[in-house]
Amino acid sequence: MRILIVEDDVSLAAGLARILEAEGYAVDVMKSGEHASMAARQESFDLVILDVGLPGIDGFEVLRRLRAEGLAMPIMVLTARDALDDRVRGLDLGADDYMVKPFAMPELAARVRALVRRGQSHSGPRIVHGPLVLDTSARRATLGGQPLELAAREWAVLEVLLARVEKIVSKESIIQAMANWGEELSLNAIEVYVSRLRAKLEPSGVHIRTVRGFGYMLEEYKAPATEKETGHGGA
Ligand code: CA
Repeated sequence: MRILIVEDDVSLAAGLARILEAEGYAVDVMKSGEHASMAARQESFDLVILDVGLPGIDGFEVLRRLRAEGLAMPIMVLTARDALDDRVRGLDLGADDYMVKPFAMPELAARVRALVRRGQSHSGPRIVHGPLVLDTSARRATLGGQPLELAAREWAVLEVLLARVEKIVSKESIIQAMANWGEELSLNAIEVYVSRLRAKLEPSGVHIRTVRGFGYMLEEYKAPATEKETGHGGA
């Protein structure tokens, strides 16, 4: 497993490299966006960790170039700015995740593990659950082949649930997973996002069950009886 770190802060880059090497990854560090986008084109990386604030072309431009060339490896954006605009822009340009500096190394390591796993388990950056398809690279969702409008936070909640189909997910752990939105989210807010998701998904047979006093569970998708021969997804 090979990771490319693009970060001009030498001590941060060295710290990241040390942590990730200790986890068994091969790590390359580059300080410039120009070099990084060339290297990513010529060599194969399983994950790119990309700082936004780089000398020369910035991280957004590197991200845009890589995706424009069809490179689909997971990309995590590091931003010092916690403006919502930056985070949204990164995701719009095809980042899979982002961390706002300063961040805790163990959290970064955990997210890297998740991204690398996701990169290996899908041929493309798509999450499929019955009629529901999330294109995590283009940040577009479809339901039964029709475009599905999801607010950013609805998307985030849905991703958490999709990562744990048939498992009970506590509201607290959804809040934790969304913690890098940089705002305190209340349990009530999570309930609101889940109820909006339900309104959009349930008519298509995608069910989010309430586990009273604890949280939620995205049920395994079961195709309607008339389509029984197609089996059920999610297993
Ligand atoms: Ca920087």
